[in-house]
Amino acid sequence: MIHVDVLAKDETITVTIEGRPDERHACPTCGAPCPGYDSRRRSWRHLDTCQFKTFLVADVPRVSCKEHGVQQIVLPWAEPGSGFTALFESVVIDWL
Ligand SMILES: [Zn+2]
Repeated sequence: MIHVDVLAKDETITVTIEGRPDERHACPTCGAPCPGYDSRRRSWRHLDTCQFKTFLVADVPRVSCKEHGVQQIVLPWAEPGSGFTALFESVVIDWL
């Protein structure tokens, strides 16, 4: 499910992405389906929407792989450890 909050006063848009509680994830190392371990709330700066700063927010799951231990899943919109979406980074790299 996706929620969009517009804060006109702060000129920001926050897009919150929620996964399903029963959603299964794969180990990022071996790809094996794994049970969930926990999750952490994170946010990423995304490209502006109509001149409003836009942020993605999600509780990013970690999985527990029997072979590789606890790891964060791979996200389709950002590189591991980045505070920016891949699309935002791509535009900035093009500017440079
Ligand atoms: Zn694994």
